[in-house]
Amino acid sequence: MPQNIGVFIDRDGTISEEVGYINHVSRYQVYPWTGEAIRSLNKAGLKVVVVTNQAGVARGYFTEGLLGQVHQKLIAEMTRAGAHFDAIYYCPHHPTVGEPPYRQACNCRKPKTGMVDRAAAELGIDVSKSFVIGDRYGDIELAHNAGARSVFVLSGYGLGEYEYQRHNWKQQPEWVARDLLDASQWILQAITA
Ligand SMILES: [Mg+2]
Ligand SMILES: [Zn+2]
Repeated sequence: MPQNIGVFIDRDGTISEEVGYINHVSRYQVYPWTGEAIRSLNKAGLKVVVVTNQAGVARGYFTEGLLGQVHQKLIAEMTRAGAHFDAIYYCPHHPTVGEPPYRQACNCRKPKTGMVDRAAAELGIDVSKSFVIGDRYGDIELAHNAGARSVFVLSGYGLGEYEYQRHNWKQQPEWVARDLLDASQWILQAITA
């Protein structure tokens, strides 16, 4: 069993529907395949960590309290599916919008590596053996910046970014998956290959 491999997963467009700012918990909809995907990573002994930019807090679109409610809904759905996250980290900051302390040039806003660094320290993860999964190029940049492997998903913003923006990407993902379930299956074979 791998002891120190992490899977860092973006939230919106990867775990759950990309619907813009979640300013009410009712807007938050987890994809139907997410529970199975997370459960399979749990069973393989991987550390599963959510890393999500939530600048809507800095922008004043929603509070950290509402963000907490959304994450409780996500956790409850995973529990029903027999799955769990080892941690959920979010960046509530924006470099130029809002008021301090949310307005700051933090080190956690993806593609900066603060959330990955923190997870590595708190959960004992070897980032070089680990994976980032996301639906935006910033997630691929995060993997590159952190020295992790990357899987791009075509859910959420993924298909549009892949079709129309890929030629601008300085880094390419190691794998392009249909969705989070496909990504998790690819990771499970990649770590045993
Ligand atoms: Mg996303
Ligand atoms: Zn931040």
